[in-house]
Amino acid sequence: MSEDSNVAPWKGVGVTPSPVRYRKNPITDNPNSSEGEVALVGAGPGDPELLTLKAWRLIQEADVVLYDRLVSQEILALVPDDVMKVHVGKQRSKHTLPQDQINNRLVELARSGRKVVRLKGGDPFIFGRGGEEIETLADAGVRFQVVPGITAASGCASYAGIPLTHRDHAQSVRFVTGHLKNDTCDLPWKDFVQNNQTLVFYMGLVGLPIICRELIAHGMAEDMPVALVSKGTTSEQKVVVGDLSTIVEKVDGETVSPPTLVIIGQVVGLRQRLDWLASVPGQPADSEN
Ligand code: SAH
Repeated sequence: MSEDSNVAPWKGVGVTPSPVRYRKNPITDNPNSSEGEVALVGAGPGDPELLTLKAWRLIQEADVVLYDRLVSQEILALVPDDVMKVHVGKQRSKHTLPQDQINNRLVELARSGRKVVRLKGGDPFIFGRGGEEIETLADAGVRFQVVPGITAASGCASYAGIPLTHRDHAQSVRFVTGHLKNDTCDLPWKDFVQNNQTLVFYMGLVGLPIICRELIAHGMAEDMPVALVSKGTTSEQKVVVGDLSTIVEKVDGETVSPPTLVIIGQVVGLRQRLDWLASVPGQPADSEN
């Protein structure tokens, strides 16, 4: 690879950083190896500028990128034209692979000597099945590394002006899957109802009525503030704010597109003063409802 091909081609991203030379990381990269390898890489929640430098470098060096439905188009635009792109993660689509086939595909590609980037939305270790994928790689003896990404909770909270913790309002934050298997609400609701705690529900849109109902039934105040962030950190970010008793109706009256994240806690109230997005030039316009 020539030196110049290491200069970041930030085409279409709206930013032009000064030229930076990306060198191999001497700790995690083995320049003498011709074996294939897999990098499990977090792409962040959507805004391409939230990609880490390491994620960007590995994408430039890849032979093939396997990506999920949550990886934004702007980030895919950073994959060089000569790198093979394989869409493996669109849910409910016939055209995508079940998890075990994805795992096996990673092993096959690496064994054929390729540098594989497995690109996932947010952080691969937070509700991303990243663990399952690298377990298969570990069992198969394939070399791999993991690159963290900004998880949706951090991205959406920052871009919505909602600090997840705050000395006056929340000393802890809990990331919960809202993907409820059935109506039995198999979650430790009692533990969720604590003072000074922020709850973040991933995959919580469908289950939102159950989440609100159960939290109230387990003693949370009906007027506890709730924010639903749709397409957080992208140019289409939308935030709907209400409380436990009103948010379902408010969301019903809106067009909200997936992915969406639900944030519950006193910290949501801070958004009134801390919503900064619309005031920063070049940032996606935020909308409040
Ligand atoms: N590994 C990912 C989460 C995968 S689970 C991460 O760390 O962010 C998928 C869920 O993540 C979605 O249902 C949604 O709840 C949340 N999510 C991901 N990107 C989001 C975005 N840009 N805006 C809102 N929610 C998002």
